[in-house]
Amino acid sequence: MVRRVAVVGAGVSGLAATKCCLEEGLEPTCFEQSEDIGGLWHYMDQAEEGRASIYRTVFTNSCKEMMCYPDFPFPDDHPNYMHNARLQHYICKYAEHFNLRRHVQFKTLVTKVRKCPDFSVTGQWEVVTRRDGKEETAVFDAVMVCSGHHVYPNLPLADFPGIQKFKGCYFHSREYKEPEKFRGKKVLVIGLGNSGSDIAVELSTVASQVYLSSRSGSWVMSRVWDNGYPWDMLVITRFRTWLGNILPTALSDWLYVRGMNRFFKHENFGLMPLNRTSRKEPVFNDDLPSRIACGVVVMKPNVKEFRETSVLFQDGTVQDDVDVVVFATGYSYSYPFMEDDSIIKSRDNQVTLYKGIIPPHLEKPTMAVIGLVQSLGPIIPTADMQCRWAVKVFQDMNLNTKGDGDDDLKQPLFLSLPQRYGNSTTLQTDYITYMDELASAIGVKPNMLKLLLMDPRLALEVIFGPCTPYQFRLMGPGKWSGARKAILTQWDRTLQ
Ligand code: FAD
Repeated sequence: MVRRVAVVGAGVSGLAATKCCLEEGLEPTCFEQSEDIGGLWHYMDQAEEGRASIYRTVFTNSCKEMMCYPDFPFPDDHPNYMHNARLQHYICKYAEHFNLRRHVQFKTLVTKVRKCPDFSVTGQWEVVTRRDGKEETAVFDAVMVCSGHHVYPNLPLADFPGIQKFKGCYFHSREYKEPEKFRGKKVLVIGLGNSGSDIAVELSTVASQVYLSSRSGSWVMSRVWDNGYPWDMLVITRFRTWLGNILPTALSDWLYVRGMNRFFKHENFGLMPLNRTSRKEPVFNDDLPSRIACGVVVMKPNVKEFRETSVLFQDGTVQDDVDVVVFATGYSYSYPFMEDDSIIKSRDNQVTLYKGIIPPHLEKPTMAVIGLVQSLGPIIPTADMQCRWAVKVFQDMNLNTKGDGDDDLKQPLFLSLPQRYGNSTTLQTDYITYMDELASAIGVKPNMLKLLLMDPRLALEVIFGPCTPYQFRLMGPGKWSGARKAILTQWDRTLQ
């Protein structure tokens, strides 16, 4: 019987985990190394060891209706996309509403998680924590790892010959906070992800010139789509997912590329992704095309070599007098507190987790890794669904083995998902397909036939409207009585 659950981290995933444990009558203890909840969204002026770090001007790229906790909509008057401080405020309100803080032990670092000697029988874990220099060990029936994955910078200096000779300064985007100290400098930003493009655009307002180097291009999308509605409310719908699955691949790819080019033609801006049909997460940036058009951001291919003060690019061009290089080269996954690293296998982003959650080689499925999958969808509802599913698995360890026998738990993550996500992105999945898969397993997927018969107005909004998180709290265990109303009023809140 699982009763006591250790939750590592009190970011949005850890809070979801704590709440889902409480919902199911379990006893969560959430360990948070910092002094507050919110994780990445709890902004600090300095990057802290072992914690995600964001720049001052980070705004969300998922809109409020899509990225809320499924039973806690954002207030009506909040803008659709939010500054990090507002999101942090919302996270605090959520914790307050569900009285979660009393389950969090702040300033408590989890230093070790290891299997108990009798793990194969009990499935229990020993969790070692440190607070004010004092170590404590406690035994838990299950562990939910919610420690985030934007913490350990990926700084592939070996791929950049000559970087040791370079006389300017260079650092990882994790260290970047605000633009002022780069006034008048020539800056090279490496990496066309969300951070790289945000930082390039922001620096272009003060720097003398910004170069943005990309190895393989990226789709760059606007937050604002047709008639000014949020992109995700128009794109992430059940109907579109269904169409994408039934259309011939060539037609679906053609429509996809056409959709991505609706804002501007990527080819003309030097942004065209090498793999144009891959559904890898796009970059959200409303300003990048205009900064490129104004010449203050100049697109460059991959760096071939660094010299003392200049940079040689793959296309043979050289930029002289570069002062600063920002490596926006992403993050690596790491779980330093895991005594046995191979439990959550992490090699070149190749994490093998059943349903993207449970390590597949455990004798008992009593560990869940939350928030690691990436999809076009928002993290908060994904984490909430993963936690609900994981807690059910803890309680009924046969949940996933029914029918297929034990081997089912050992299947790697996205075996059944479409190939269009490519091999290099094994953590990438289709949002609605993934959510539905988990929701079906725990009986909370909206029953379309029932909805069409009983509540056709709601059914049409569920099928053709945005797949907002409330859909997963409409029926079944964990049902929220406000879900129907929230779905029927979601466009009103968006307009407000
Ligand atoms: P985190 O927020 O990183 O929280 C992890 C927590 O665990 C931290 O508080 C940390 O202190 C604690 N912790 C870690 N290790 C230990 C330990 N050993 N002991 C105790 N405590 C520990 N997602 C979206 O859906 N929409 C967006 O618009 C969006 N924008 C983003 C913008 C940026 C710049 C970045 C970097 C990411 C963005 N994301 C976005 C993704 C983001 O990862 C999630 O929004 C979310 O914050 C992840 O939450 P988390 O709880 O999983 O991890």
